[in-house]
Amino acid sequence: MTENLFDKKLQQIKADGLHRQMRYLESPQGSHVRIAGEDILMLSSNSYLGLCFDDRLRSAAHAALEQYGTGSGGSRLTTGSYDIHKKLEEEIAAFKGTEAALVFATGYMANVGIISAVAGKNWVIFSDRLSHASIIDGCRLSGAEIVVYEHCNPADLERKTSRYRGRQGLIVTDGLFSVDGDIAPLPALVEIARKHQLLLMVDDAHATGVLGKNGGGTAEHFGLDGGIDIVMGTLSKALASEGGFVAGSHSLMDCLVNSARSFIFSTAPAPATIAVSIAALDIVRKEPAARETLRGHSLWFRKELRTMGFNVEDHPTPIISIVLGRPDVAVDFSKRLMAKKIFVSAIRPPTVPAGTSRLRINIMATHKKEELTRALVAIGDVGRSLGVISS
Ligand code: PMP
Repeated sequence: MTENLFDKKLQQIKADGLHRQMRYLESPQGSHVRIAGEDILMLSSNSYLGLCFDDRLRSAAHAALEQYGTGSGGSRLTTGSYDIHKKLEEEIAAFKGTEAALVFATGYMANVGIISAVAGKNWVIFSDRLSHASIIDGCRLSGAEIVVYEHCNPADLERKTSRYRGRQGLIVTDGLFSVDGDIAPLPALVEIARKHQLLLMVDDAHATGVLGKNGGGTAEHFGLDGGIDIVMGTLSKALASEGGFVAGSHSLMDCLVNSARSFIFSTAPAPATIAVSIAALDIVRKEPAARETLRGHSLWFRKELRTMGFNVEDHPTPIISIVLGRPDVAVDFSKRLMAKKIFVSAIRPPTVPAGTSRLRINIMATHKKEELTRALVAIGDVGRSLGVISS
């Protein structure tokens, strides 16, 4: 009976062209990976700086394993808080220029925990139309009224906030959007938040280590000094580790420690993971060259795609979306690239709105120019054979 239910659900997912399956890596996550015994050029990793097999990070993990062992043994408020959790939180606060910071087990848990702890039933949350799923889930869990504003559109946000004058509220957005690769107009959002006395929260999952001279993220990219009340980010992308974080005031952290359920009721991240995050933050701050290479690669790759006739927007970021429309076309494109030993993910609903299925390319600082050139030739060939660009 239950089997039948699952089969029915699966049949529908398959009929909609939305069935997904996992691919298993047999090597570290780098600009090349091994899958099913084959060497594959990786063009879809969030490890933007290519640090997942970095010697310094692996040594930090080994040393922490020797000193602290494996699991953390409890939640942060019971037995799972270690001196290195405190150290990482102090380092993150210094990095983001805030009073304090707090680490969660994942970025997803951070968003869900922060938003549901901060906003309540009589609040209103203004959320960008393309906010990440974890932001959406946090908004829903909070019980607040949710008002969605047009993507990266401060004029629409201003119109909508004006209608709710006097209500306690929160504006929330990705900093660097995880799928479209564009950047939220933060200076305008700060102004609107100030004018209407709303809190502003920015999810810097993809911008941390990537945007800004020191890798400080979206605020640093715009040269903003303050104005963002809640800076959320992940340690799982450019920082090549795992976990989510929030940076802000001491009182925000104390409030979250005492009310964010995904923080309170979950085991603390393992010490070795925390040690990797500390070492990665140090590299990100001290080594801007990789970030500059990443930016150069990204701008060039976008330009080349546009020259070939692909519909690609112009952003100074390593996330490049080629919107194709139908999910089956995106999947076919991705499969044909995989046949040429190039890994580019097809992104379909529910990750993106219906009718905007696409390829998402993630550039890494460790890609070599000739590898990217090979990828461009392959993408061009497949694009022509599928009629996406003209011959
Ligand atoms: N926010 C954004 C914008 C993301 O892209 C992601 C992960 N894809 C998350 C939050 C969740 O972070 P994590 O993977 O660390 O749970």
